[in-house]
Amino acid sequence: MAENGGMPQALGSILNGIGVSPGIAIGRAFLLDRAKLKPRGEKISSNQVVPEVERFLEAVDGARIELEQIKAKTLKNGSVEVAGQHNYIFDVHLLMLKDKMLIDDTVTLIKEKKINAEWALNLNSEKIVNFFKQMQDSYLRERQSDVAHVSELILRHLSKSEYDSIEKISRGVIIVAHDLSPADTLQLDPNRVKAFVTDLGGRTSHTAIVARSIEIPAVVGSEYATEKINGGDRLIVDGIEGKVIVNPSRAQLVTYQEKRIQYDQFQAHLILNRDLPAETTDGFRVALAGNIETPEETESIIAHGATNIGLYRTEFLFLNRNNLPSEEEHFLTYKKVVESLPPESKTTIRTFDLGADKIAESEQFHEDSINPALGLRGIRLCLNHQEIFVTQIRGILRASHYGRLKIMLPMVSGLKELRQAKAIIAEAKAGLEHEGVSFDHEIPVGIMIEVPSAAIISDQLAREVDFFSIGTNDLIQYTLALDRSNEHVSYLYEPLHPAILRLLHQIITNAKEAEIPVSICGEMAGEPLYTLILLGLGLDKLSMNAISIPHIKQIIRQSTFAEAREMLAQSLLMETAADVESYVAKEMNQRFPETFLMKM
Ligand code: PEP
Ligand code: MG
Repeated sequence: MAENGGMPQALGSILNGIGVSPGIAIGRAFLLDRAKLKPRGEKISSNQVVPEVERFLEAVDGARIELEQIKAKTLKNGSVEVAGQHNYIFDVHLLMLKDKMLIDDTVTLIKEKKINAEWALNLNSEKIVNFFKQMQDSYLRERQSDVAHVSELILRHLSKSEYDSIEKISRGVIIVAHDLSPADTLQLDPNRVKAFVTDLGGRTSHTAIVARSIEIPAVVGSEYATEKINGGDRLIVDGIEGKVIVNPSRAQLVTYQEKRIQYDQFQAHLILNRDLPAETTDGFRVALAGNIETPEETESIIAHGATNIGLYRTEFLFLNRNNLPSEEEHFLTYKKVVESLPPESKTTIRTFDLGADKIAESEQFHEDSINPALGLRGIRLCLNHQEIFVTQIRGILRASHYGRLKIMLPMVSGLKELRQAKAIIAEAKAGLEHEGVSFDHEIPVGIMIEVPSAAIISDQLAREVDFFSIGTNDLIQYTLALDRSNEHVSYLYEPLHPAILRLLHQIITNAKEAEIPVSICGEMAGEPLYTLILLGLGLDKLSMNAISIPHIKQIIRQSTFAEAREMLAQSLLMETAADVESYVAKEMNQRFPETFLMKM
């Protein structure tokens, strides 16, 4: 197939990215991102000419309607001067949509050359742009950019019918997008989407986390996927190694079909340990729990062998909608979670951690920050919007009557925030008590340790909370100063960096001294490479996405606590992250040669 603009990819060319959700998928590419969409040049047959012309004219019509709407909106909102200026540009563009040279000549090209609308429009607009470029008159010369804009607008409308929206996906495809937000990713239906590949993204971005939760293989941060891949290309996505193979050769197909079978068999074998405890051969037991973003995920957590939820990211309740959840909705949602678990299960509800890459559409949250990860997120946002926080707290408290719930506060950076949040919780309790509503008066209140300041004063914090859960995704992001959503710095995601190991050690020691339980619920908990190190640290619980649970359990069941302590002791003596990483990788590969370790 010919391609305007880009060269067809050589058979089996490989794109490297970050494998963030394991599994192998083979399927056709579905280009989702309109902004990055390249027009695809195709020859058409004689009987396709009439429908193709119609498709083109419909796109022109769509572009006209869009322009008229924007023009009307600008007139309504803008000052007379600004609106006047825009108005003029819109009128020029609207005129161009009727222009014989742009529209009629494109139709002629479709008919005469038997090419698709995108190709014809591209050829024609290039010709017109070149024509304007040669003009002496500067005003006329500038019109070339208007031609380009209008053509682009029509192209967007052309591509809309073919690609564009997630809802239109009807069969198993591999999504290729410049970027996907966590909210977009949550909408992907695993029955219709086999895998996804993005240009942007980091290992512990929430998009990656959601991909693992919904069990869709994913490669992010490939940088050039939308440039190199055409819609309809056959792809192999290797979410374990972080590779994408474009239009694979027969030999590559066979290799990956085998790898897929091996991986599926490996997973099926792991699930056999579902009902066994996560206990080392010398008797050290660790609780394994699941992380969820939606109540529906509890089913998968149970299927993978856990009964407790160590982290429920409730902020996902606020996404993909433009209003806020009511107290009743909070209550019913958390009640649903506890009721879908066995009676003695415990669920840790993290109060909403909006901000950074999880943006609610509700207007109340809009913050224009150039540095959102350091902006108003987590507990800061809760304390800033206390009425929304109280609504959630009341919902949690009411649900605590129906099952064992814990409240966990995100992004706490010091005692002041903690005390403020606890005062709000106490007030909400008093209110419910006054109203005669039943709830668990002893509901434990704990915090995420994910801001370096909280780690450093964890001895003080430990005296005022019921538990700690270490959020390594953020703790690593903030300690090593790397944006967790940015593929260019993902090489700095080093959970075994001496600074991180020391911090983990310190937090856990402080928790033990205060006799409160301590767990990890960041992605590190579910990465098999780190399991012995985390065991050695003596954590009480590891909480992770469902698919990681059997794998981590398998490693724990094949290890001794003594060897884990030894690996940790050796690691703590080393000076660089690279030294620790290569030591741990070597040991783990020797100890568990049959295991699939995600490529770091
Ligand atoms: C973390 O930061 O490690 C964590 C578990 O929270 P989130 O990934 O939602 O920021
Ligand atoms: Mg976090």
